Order: sequence, then structure tokens, then C-alpha cells
Amino acid sequence: MDDGAPGVGPGVHIHESVVIGAGQGGLSSSFHLRRLGIEHVVLDANDHAGGAWQHRWDSLSMDDVHGVADLPDAPAPGGSGERANEVVAEWFDEYEQTHELPVLRPVRVDTVTDEDGLLVVHAGERTWVTRTLINATGTWTHPFVPSYPGQRDFAGEQWHTVAYPGSEHFRGRRVVVVGGGASAVQFIGEIAPIAEVQWVTRREPVWSEGRFSGREAIEAVERRVREGRPPASIVSVTGLRLRPQELAAARTGVYERRRPMFERLERDGVRWADGSFERADAILWATGFRPAVRHLAPLRLRSPAGGIALLPGTRDVQTSVTSALDPRVQLVGYGPSASTIGGNRAGRAAALAVRRGLSPGSTPAGVPPGPGPRES
Ligand code: FAD
Repeated sequence: MDDGAPGVGPGVHIHESVVIGAGQGGLSSSFHLRRLGIEHVVLDANDHAGGAWQHRWDSLSMDDVHGVADLPDAPAPGGSGERANEVVAEWFDEYEQTHELPVLRPVRVDTVTDEDGLLVVHAGERTWVTRTLINATGTWTHPFVPSYPGQRDFAGEQWHTVAYPGSEHFRGRRVVVVGGGASAVQFIGEIAPIAEVQWVTRREPVWSEGRFSGREAIEAVERRVREGRPPASIVSVTGLRLRPQELAAARTGVYERRRPMFERLERDGVRWADGSFERADAILWATGFRPAVRHLAPLRLRSPAGGIALLPGTRDVQTSVTSALDPRVQLVGYGPSASTIGGNRAGRAAALAVRRGLSPGSTPAGVPPGPGPRES
């Protein structure tokens, strides 16, 4: 399906759209593109279906997740004690097959360039030329670890959420868990009953009974991306809650013994600005992820505020998807739509934006005239 040609040239097939990423956002986008009759291909870096979910830690069960939203036309698997990384991956796999979505894998996109008004998607030696692009690459491939002095001097182990080895690994050891998000709270829930845990966060955690997809929280992130600021994670503005799974840990008082961020790492532990010291065998950085958008750098979509500014969507939340600087490019699962329900809504909004961009007579800047969508 890819042309293999090194860019734009005579005889090269020009796609109406290319979707990068086959997580919830990419699958929803592909479903809606197909429904609108828009020819496209989905490029995904993984060997198998399942988006980032297939890589989540083994102890994360379907009862532990905040809730996985339905895909268009396919109800999500419900809560259970089964592993989320298996259940969701199988569900995605079946979805791709049932809807005959045109997913190619493994294809890791390196860069997207603009050549003669067309977008060229590069993956190693392979290229795809397209009039429009939907980027749905999530965050999982870009784990974020903040830097602190002495990080290299620390003699113990350092882990990030992305590689969490399970609670048993930490049994009987002294563990510093860093981060004020839901993952940190969950890891502490698992580890504190069997290890000595010190929790540290940069900011005072916000506890709430709020739901993960609370409208206010989403709107707050939406405002940030319209202003071109880097998006905050939705959970960072929704608040945290302790679930029954965390109550045993809570009884140890571990959540109340939280401390502010330490100032530096030393060989055997961490030290705070007031001189106090905590010995540690391991540090678990539950410090989140950043949007995986580096491959878009040649398109220069970033605003001076550091994020990719998106145009306002419809009145529905999570429909801001179109790059303000290049309306050929839609971002799904970015900022306010970085959740499973957000991926769904944004996927639909992105497909509609692609259709608008391809319509003869439409004037979104930079979209060369195409054959127009075939309504189905
Ligand atoms: P992903 O599922 O990350 O899929 C992106 C896909 O793009 C992957 O297959 C990846 O391999 C591929 N890709 C990345 N870069 C490239 C590239 N350069 N070239 C080709 N392919 C590429 N949301 C909820 O609604 N409920 C929850 O309980 C929940 N829990 C979460 C827990 C954690 C720890 C994290 C990090 C997120 C959680 N979220 C949750 C958010 C949610 O998982 C995602 O926002 C949602 O699944 C949408 O996924 P996506 O399609 O944007 O990305």
C-alpha cells in the first residue's frame, strides 16, 4: 500500500488521508473516515493491535482502569479482574478486523514533511504521500522523567510507569514513589502493604470524587491547547480518589506521610532542602508522559507557548482537533481528547475536518484540491 517512492513524484499514489497510530483515537478516526468514504491508511508502530493498552503493567485489571469508553459501534469490555493489557488488545484486534480497517504494522513514523503542498510521511525507507493527516500517537512512547541533581549518583534502581515491574519486585524494600497522578496512587496501593514507601509530589495532590472525564477538567485542558500551551494531563485537573484497592495502603498512613519534592538524589537515597534524608533502594517515577509528536517537528506546528495550538471545535467537548497553523493536520488524543472517550469524539471530529478539507471549493489553508469524499 505504501508507494516506496522517496517523496512526491509522478505516478506516486496520493492518499486522501493518513492516520498515524492505532489506539482508541486512531481506530475511531479510521472508522469515521471509512464511514465517510474517505480513502486512507493507518500506520501503527506496534507489532500487534492494542495501542498503548497492550503495554500497560500486568497488575492493571479492567476493574482498576478509570473506565474504557466504547469504540464507535462496539461496546467496551466491562470491569473484571482480567488484565487490561490483554482484554483491550483483543477487543481492538477484533474491532480492526470486523470493520476491515486499513491498518499497516509495524510502521514507526520518523517524520512528516511538507513537499509541494502535500504531506509526506516517512518511516525508514518507506513513504506515504497524503493530502491530510490525522495524528493519533498518544503519549505512551514519550515517558517523562524530571531531572534532579544527583540522578546519576543514585546507586539504587530507577523505574518509570512505562516499565513498572509489579509490586512483588519491591517487596521488603524502601521505595520512593514520585508523582501526584492516578498511577502513583495505584502503585502505592500495591506496594505500600509489602514495602516501605515514601510518597513525594511536586504539588499538593487534589483529592476528589470527580469522574475521569469531568467536563470542567476537559474544558480547562481545551483552553490550554487553544492558547497553544502544552496540554496538562486530564487527571491532573480532575483530582484523585482512593478506590477500594488502595484502602489497605491507606490504613498504613502512606498517603498522609506524603512529602514535597526532594531537592536532590544521593548515592543511597534522596535529600530535601531542609537537610532531611530518606534512604531508598528504588525510585519509581510515576511522572507521566508527553504527547508523542516529535515526528511532526518539520511541519513547525508548535506555537511560541510550547504546545500545538488547536482551533476551537464544535460546542461538544473534545472536538478541538485541527492544528491552527496547518489545518491539513488533525490531532486526536492530544490534550483535551487524551482519554478513551476523548479519542472517540476527537476521531469523529477529525474525520469530519478531513472531509471539509478535501471538499472541492473548501479553502482550509494549504489543502490541495482532492477528488472529494465519497459519501457512503
Ligand atoms: P494510544 O493508545 O497510546 O495509541 C497510540 C498508538 O500510536 C500506539 O499504538 C503507538 O504504538 C502508535 N504510535 C506512537 N508513535 C508512533 C509513530 N511515530 N509511528 C507510528 N505509530 C506510532 N483513559 C481512559 O479513558 N481511561 C483510563 O482508565 C485511562 N488510563 C490511563 C492510564 C495510563 C497509565 C495512561 C498513560 C493513560 C490512560 N488513559 C486512560 C488515557 C488513554 O489511554 C488514552 O488517552 C486513550 O487510550 C487514547 O489513546 P490514543 O489513541 O490517543 O493513544
